[in-house]
Amino acid sequence: MSRSGSRHAVAAVTALLALLALLAACAGAAPDATLTAPAAPTTAVVQDLPVTTPPPATPPPPTTPAFAATVSAVTAAELGASWRPGCPVGPGELRRVTLAHWGFDGQPAAGSLVVNASAAQAMVNVFRRLFDERFPIRGMATIDAYGGDDDASMAADNTSAFNCRNAVATGPPRWSAHAYGLAIDVNPVENPYLLAGQVLPPAGREYVDRSRPRPGMAVAGGVLTEAFAAEGWQWGGRWSNPDYQHFSSTGG
Ligand SMILES: [Zn+2]
Repeated sequence: MSRSGSRHAVAAVTALLALLALLAACAGAAPDATLTAPAAPTTAVVQDLPVTTPPPATPPPPTTPAFAATVSAVTAAELGASWRPGCPVGPGELRRVTLAHWGFDGQPAAGSLVVNASAAQAMVNVFRRLFDERFPIRGMATIDAYGGDDDASMAADNTSAFNCRNAVATGPPRWSAHAYGLAIDVNPVENPYLLAGQVLPPAGREYVDRSRPRPGMAVAGGVLTEAFAAEGWQWGGRWSNPDYQHFSSTGG
C-alpha cells in the first residue's frame, strides 16, 4: 500500500467513524425526543390543575328510590267482598303487604296485596328483587277494590293475591290457593290463563304467543319466575292449561 493510499484509507476510516457516530447520535436522539415530548405537557397540565380547573362537580343525588315494604294486620271489614264467614282462612291469618314496584311508565309506585301471614315475607323478598331489576307491574290493588270479581281484576291487568273463591278449573268445585292467600296473579293481561281454549282475561290474547318476551311477562328463566322460585313458589305457566300469571306456594 502506498503512503498516499494509506492516507486515503485513514481518511476513509475517519469518515466512516464520523458517519457511524452521527448515526449513533441520531439513533440515540430519537427515543429521547419520544420520551421527553409528552412529558412536558403532562407536567404542565398537572401544574395547572389547581389553578385553572374548577373543583369537581358534586355527583347528583341518586334518583332511584329505595325499595319499601310494610306488613300489617287486616280486618274483615277491609277484606270486603273478598272474604266471608266460611272461607278457609280468617282475617287473623291474613296480612296486608304494601310493596314498592315499578310501573310500565318507568315510574316507581306502591300497591298492596293481601296474603297468608306465612307468605308475607316471601312476597317482600320477591318484590324487592323485582324492584331491583325494574320488572314492571301494571297495578296492585287488593281484589276487594273489584268487588272480589276475579274477571274484573284480571281485565284491569291488576296483580292480586288473596281472594276467597273456588279454583277456576274444570272438575268439581274446590277452593283456589288464592282462598288461602297462598297464590298471586301477576300482570294478568301480559300473562293470561289458557284454560281449555279460553284466554283469561280476553285482553291477554295478544300475549298467548310466549315466544316473544315483552315487558311484564312471566317467562321460564326470567326474573319473575326466578324470584318466586327462590321462595319455593311454583309457576302455573308449566301446567297443561298454562296459567302464566299464577304463582303459588302450594303448587296448585
Ligand atoms: Zn291465580
